[in-house]
Amino acid sequence: MGYIGSHTAVQLLLSGYQVHIYDNLCNSNIDTLQRIKRIAGKDLGFTYGDIRDTQKLTAALKENSIEAVIHLAGLKAVGESSKKPIEYYSNNTQGSISLIQAMQAVHISTLVFSSSATVYGDPVYLPYDEAHPTFPTNPYGHNKLQIEQMLHDLAFSDKNWRIACLRYFNPVGAHESGLIGENPNGIPNNLMPVIGQVANGKLAQLSIFGNDYSTSDGTGKRDYIHVMDLADGHLMALNWLQENLGCHTFNLGSGSSFSVLELLRCFEKVSAKKIPYQIVARRPGDLSEYYAKVDKAEKILGWKTRRSLEDICTSSWNWIKNSKNN
Ligand code: UDP
Repeated sequence: MGYIGSHTAVQLLLSGYQVHIYDNLCNSNIDTLQRIKRIAGKDLGFTYGDIRDTQKLTAALKENSIEAVIHLAGLKAVGESSKKPIEYYSNNTQGSISLIQAMQAVHISTLVFSSSATVYGDPVYLPYDEAHPTFPTNPYGHNKLQIEQMLHDLAFSDKNWRIACLRYFNPVGAHESGLIGENPNGIPNNLMPVIGQVANGKLAQLSIFGNDYSTSDGTGKRDYIHVMDLADGHLMALNWLQENLGCHTFNLGSGSSFSVLELLRCFEKVSAKKIPYQIVARRPGDLSEYYAKVDKAEKILGWKTRRSLEDICTSSWNWIKNSKNN
């Protein structure tokens, strides 16, 4: 019940699904469970466990009569993955094998997998479509691609499987209630949490990693997607899988990109806070710009983003203000 899982659980509950969460809380907080219940006005189940504990996972699937799984149990810090690759291979790749084995043991064959645009690597062309070559450049991206490949092989070998691999672009924003949002451990790496910490006084300023890219204002551009749109994407994928077999890949992005300065200005506007910044050297491995081609998800799943950059910044600021007092 981390960042994306908590928002997805809310949307699932509100659309009538029953939800049971299995989590080792390594990057989340048990309080979030109460907050999900409060927003949705519905109860949900919880089992504390590690995804690699196949026996415990199998029992949780069986005892709770689970019919489909949304797999979000991945470590996700790109930089950390290069420093601790084996932890990433163990939790992400080995963890996914454990999940499949548990699902096979109890005959569950519907799965939505949390993948990432990181699988594409350096753009050969933009926007990235789902057929773009995949050359990830870090262990985190390697894990995501390995798992996708494993799921394709699985669906090929056993025609009962219904799998959707969702390649997220840059998830940002929070639930409009301000009760759930992104809560990174330690010093954040990603742009929005850093801006948030500058806004609430935890950090003195934002360091912008380079303003000499070949973009409109020289700062890096990304496809930011509101986490609630992303949550809706999981719901739509799950609904679609009820009628469709096989393993399918979808980009989940907005289809357009915004620069660091554009995001910063928008945040300043909605928060009425000045965000001091300095321009520093480029961050190694950063790309100038990328964004998604989103036609496939729209045509097949009937999904597209509905929330704007302003909605993203407003909801983030609301969450940051709220979480400061919690
Ligand atoms: N960025 C930045 N300062 C920060 C964090 C990020 O200038 O403290 C920039 C980064 O160079 C990139 C954009 O913000 O152009 C988004 O970075 P993030 O880490 O959020 O996502 P990623 O680059 O991994 O897609």
